Amino acid sequence: MNANCGNLPGNRSASGWTDYAQLGKQLAQIEATSNGRVAVDVIGQSHRGRDIYTARVGTGDRVLLITSEIHGNEKTGTEALLQMLKTLGSSGSPQAKAIRDNLTIVAVPKFNPDGAELNRRQNDFPWNEVVEKFPQLAGTNAPYYYSNGAQGFDVNRDFSADLTAEPSPATRPSNETLPGMYLTNESRALRDLYVNLRDEFGKVHAYVDLHHMGPCNENIGTDQYVTVALDFPPLGSEAAGNPRYADWPLLDQDASRRHTLAAALGMMQHAGNGSGTGSPFFGGVSQYVHYQVADGYSFDRDYAGQARSAFALNGSASVLFEVRGQSHAWGQKQKGQLTKAVEAGIFGIAERMADRSVDNLNGDDFYELPKYW
Ligand SMILES: [Zn+2]
Repeated sequence: MNANCGNLPGNRSASGWTDYAQLGKQLAQIEATSNGRVAVDVIGQSHRGRDIYTARVGTGDRVLLITSEIHGNEKTGTEALLQMLKTLGSSGSPQAKAIRDNLTIVAVPKFNPDGAELNRRQNDFPWNEVVEKFPQLAGTNAPYYYSNGAQGFDVNRDFSADLTAEPSPATRPSNETLPGMYLTNESRALRDLYVNLRDEFGKVHAYVDLHHMGPCNENIGTDQYVTVALDFPPLGSEAAGNPRYADWPLLDQDASRRHTLAAALGMMQHAGNGSGTGSPFFGGVSQYVHYQVADGYSFDRDYAGQARSAFALNGSASVLFEVRGQSHAWGQKQKGQLTKAVEAGIFGIAERMADRSVDNLNGDDFYELPKYW
């Protein structure tokens, strides 16, 4: 394989990606030209005062919630969501109409705007300012997901399945198997949005979280690089049936695998042929493995503080996209191709939720995808 896969020439800055100011303008334009189909809203502000935008499209009774840039340097999802909103806001195609009639999609295209403007993973929330906001934490150390160097949090560890939890010294997690504290404006705003949607619709049927990973990963047993790795929630002890989460009866890992499979099918379908090979943007779709005791590996991942885990424990099917390459390191080289792959995966889910065929997929087929870890 190409030893320079992570070191490609080209523009590595974030300047070609949609920044915060551009996002506000683009969303306003999409809303204005959508004939009332797309509604833009603000669900809160980041610690540095930037709006956290949402865009809602569709009038159906199933809900698909999608976030991008929970990690501020992972940007293809934002471009893919803008494309999706443009299409669903303006297209008269039967496919777009079916999605609008049968789904309500709520997109949060730049969920961590402070991190996005800094082009980094964490948000911007120094611990001393956390303690000013939550005085009950005075004298408490920061949780493990706070970065002293960045003076901010990995927002995707700040969630808990207890949607009423408030920060206290007793809830400070020391490792990734424990839930987060809901310290950040971002996690708190998304929690509120989730609860409001659940109140309105009875449940949030699916939650999709859009990320990036390393650029050089190969699918195990193939000669392909991974274009997108997909995952269902990493909730521990998979082999033993998730005994840690027996108290969460709404958890439905098979539903998450079915929706994840729908994303894979969408990418393969839109890549131009059934196998998903031969497309200029398609290296390969794979499963992100979080349980493995074989071949020299031993791990059983449990990320209770991730948004997708918290919402899955509340009954949502949850799907993770990990797109090849960190956008801040890779710049424009693959922007268009990777954005198309993500968009195809999102439409793969939306189309199968709209016609309900996602209910009849075999979730175990997810395990037939090539493995990546
Ligand atoms: Zn990420």
